[in-house]
Amino acid sequence: MKHAVVTFLIPLSILYSGCTIEHDKNAKDMSREIIKIVTTTGMIADAAKIVGGTRVNVTGLMGPGVDPHLYKASAGDVTRLSEADIIFYNGLHLEAKLGELLEEMQSRTETIAVSRSINRNLLVSPPSFKGNYDPHIWFDVTLWIQAVETIRDALNMLDPSNNKIYTENASEYIRELQDLHTYVLNRSAEIPPQHRVLITAHDAFNYFGKQYGFKVMGLQGISTEAEAGTSDVQRLADFIAENRIPAIFVESSIPRRTIQALQLAVASRGFNVEIGGELFSDAMGNAGTFEGTFIGMVTHNINTIVDALKNKVPRYGTNNSYSIRFASNCSAC
Ligand SMILES: [Zn+2]
Repeated sequence: MKHAVVTFLIPLSILYSGCTIEHDKNAKDMSREIIKIVTTTGMIADAAKIVGGTRVNVTGLMGPGVDPHLYKASAGDVTRLSEADIIFYNGLHLEAKLGELLEEMQSRTETIAVSRSINRNLLVSPPSFKGNYDPHIWFDVTLWIQAVETIRDALNMLDPSNNKIYTENASEYIRELQDLHTYVLNRSAEIPPQHRVLITAHDAFNYFGKQYGFKVMGLQGISTEAEAGTSDVQRLADFIAENRIPAIFVESSIPRRTIQALQLAVASRGFNVEIGGELFSDAMGNAGTFEGTFIGMVTHNINTIVDALKNKVPRYGTNNSYSIRFASNCSAC
């Protein structure tokens, strides 16, 4: 009986200590302090800077070209995270190697997954990702708007006396994101639906494909933790040659050699597939450039994709007979 009481008390004590920390955190008056925000990806840092405006100082841990699936925290990162007033991360196992650290941070700092309020029915769960949801939510701009709302709500909770600032900044940014969504829809419509095929280095574009009507295939899976095998290259090369796909794309956060190997394998089948350009998938472009913002990266991507695929498909087949036949083992189709 005594044993039973003890085991019952342990979870309760954890629960209460959590509540106490939460209460203390909320009780701290942040209204006159600059709020220190630490984020994982650049896309989240961009949103936090815009919503927080002059009230916040944002540090993004993952810079241009950095792969979040493989990113490990440095000693400096641990210090930065410990000194933050609030931490934002993507969640859904995007930051696979930071899982334990973020969990640890949760017990002393507000640590918020920006994906947490998105209705699970809107998420995709590819069989190749071992029962997990696909974390690449930012490429469906309507889902990213929900992430921005989560950032706004968290700042409102942390610093209630400055609610007006966060709410207005978020509203203005959300209007810009709605315009961006319309732009991506309009540019996608320049390609007939049956010719919208996006082949990239890894499966980062499932939400993009679902929202904007593209069939997407990646050489590597959802996470880049497992390298593409020879059989993946051969399978995708067969598909590209057979369907005469005009262009494939490299990603800024993945070594070019993976897509170049695919291009060579297609050439050995007597078909030339172009490299249509570089897409920003899991990291934004350089700071200070248009592509170094979320709106810039999405605009760059859709322009690159549409310009490479547009008006090129009919060269390889007759307009009416061209159709896409997907490999039966394509998880994203
Ligand atoms: Zn990814």
